[in-house]
Amino acid sequence: MQITGMTQHQAWQQRTLPPVEELRPDLWSIPVPIPNSPLRYVSVYALAVPGGIGLIDTGWESEEGWQALTAGLAGIGAAVTDVQGVLVTHLHFDHLGLAARVRRASGAWVAMHPADAAVVQSWSGRDAATAVAAQVDFLISLGAAPADASTDVGGPERMQLFTRMATPDRLLEDGDLADFADWQLRAVHTPGHTPGHLCFSEERTGLFFSGDHVLPRITPNISTGSDGAADPLRSYLSSLAGVRERRPTEVLPAHEWRFSGLAERVDQLIGHHELRLTELLDALRGHPGSTPWDLAAHLSWSRPWATYERGMRIFAVTETDAHLRLLGSRGLAVRQDGAVPTWTASAEGTLRSPWEAAAL
Ligand SMILES: [Zn+2]
Repeated sequence: MQITGMTQHQAWQQRTLPPVEELRPDLWSIPVPIPNSPLRYVSVYALAVPGGIGLIDTGWESEEGWQALTAGLAGIGAAVTDVQGVLVTHLHFDHLGLAARVRRASGAWVAMHPADAAVVQSWSGRDAATAVAAQVDFLISLGAAPADASTDVGGPERMQLFTRMATPDRLLEDGDLADFADWQLRAVHTPGHTPGHLCFSEERTGLFFSGDHVLPRITPNISTGSDGAADPLRSYLSSLAGVRERRPTEVLPAHEWRFSGLAERVDQLIGHHELRLTELLDALRGHPGSTPWDLAAHLSWSRPWATYERGMRIFAVTETDAHLRLLGSRGLAVRQDGAVPTWTASAEGTLRSPWEAAAL
């Protein structure tokens, strides 16, 4: 894997926001900051299209983000009112967040995959207290004590943000061409990080817009949720295998920096999850009849588990649950149903090599 976004990488090391960059004729990256996040920013891609600008993703909804996006567009000689359409890689707030405001300012259409559209539509206008209660119940079903679940989920203020996101005007299925004339942007459905995650393959330049599906440094969070897929890690690994054989000229991810060597990065990501599955299977053998909440405490994390709290703990536990469900669907673990289901390793069975497993 080779870093091609050298300026982005340098800025990362210096802990500054990278500049707006012209990547090809009529194509720019605009970093839009994410307040208080280790991810730091989303790279919004702006493309010249007849009559204006097309965007891939929009950034986290915040005043700071809006300023960065509008200033970035001004820097390339455009304005937010020129935006004709927005392609959304997935429904997360750092990608879809500003779309509603962009649409209000410009009248642009917003397009996403039907599976993410269904989730956004189900949240739209939903009462935040109901959304909080669903999330608390879900954590309890994974083994959290009710008090811990309530603390970790927090109040309805944050949830409210998600109930006001843009619902799409257009839907894009796998293989569809986006309506950006002069470009050949084909949607590639890559479920896993979200059920409707899309990458975009630009067929004239050979560029691959990877969203959060493949990032150069971190592994995207693959977790279960009260309204998510049943076996998201299985989907994710199969979506990784699905893009591995592409040979893009450059990968343009939604975070961090541009790179080349997609297949190598895909192999690293698959390897990471297979190691994690091995570690989890060992933990399960040592602690039969455990909940995902219990098992998360037996895994190694980048910081000591006891210091995990709130949002970090939710990610860790729902990610553990995603790995358990994949062990379950590979026949290596069994779930015992009950008010709070528990998991036990199957008597037989070992993990296959990552490459065999990815093919399953
Ligand atoms: Zn993201």
